[in-house]
Amino acid sequence: MPKPSMIAIDGPVASGKSTIGRLLAQRLGYRFVDTGAMYRALTWRAIKLSIDLEDEGELSRLAASTKIEFAPPEDYSSVFVDGHDVTREIQDWEVEAGVSLVARVAGVRKVLVEQQRGLAQKGKIVMAGRDIGTTVLPHAELKVYLVASFEERARRRYQELVERGEAADYEAILADLIRRDEIDSERSVSPLRPAPEARIIDTDGLSADQVLSEILSMMGEG
Ligand code: C5P
Repeated sequence: MPKPSMIAIDGPVASGKSTIGRLLAQRLGYRFVDTGAMYRALTWRAIKLSIDLEDEGELSRLAASTKIEFAPPEDYSSVFVDGHDVTREIQDWEVEAGVSLVARVAGVRKVLVEQQRGLAQKGKIVMAGRDIGTTVLPHAELKVYLVASFEERARRRYQELVERGEAADYEAILADLIRRDEIDSERSVSPLRPAPEARIIDTDGLSADQVLSEILSMMGEG
């Protein structure tokens, strides 16, 4: 295939989207946008403002009035909310527990999807999320959908937390990812599912480099 300018990487919680997406973007010299970080950033703001995460009207208004930005331009590794760096805070347990509630609100999705399309406009982008191939970038030339077993995903999340020096409880992580997958898959707007033309990769037992090689070989590279 000719080198794709827009690459969508979707999949459930902790399926490896960010790790793989970032590696792929680095390899291609593309920008990487983690759309999950945008939903998390908005959730962080809602919690700070003590907004009820069941209040769809308030959340939609908040989405419309909040500025979410990525920096630096080379790799978009930091996330800012109204100028405040929230890169680390959006990984907190409290945000993690609330984000699927915020992400199911149609008014929130409308605003964030529009921003995501704006970020992708210039091309040369790898974008990771749940609905990139189906809704955000339906014309992306390459769509990848990553899957892995619940146990493998919980193990990866556990490892991530331990490496960051945070408290981690495997059973709680497993229960939370089952709960979040359920909300993400059952919501009425842009539920989590692969686009019909997405290439599905089961990453169980594969290293990040192996998954990366598989994607590069789909593109005729590597
Ligand atoms: O990918 P990550 O776990 O950071 O995403 C956090 C949450 O944001 C997901 O559980 C999902 O509810 C929501 N999300 C979404 N659509 C996206 C990206 C993330 O609904 N494109």
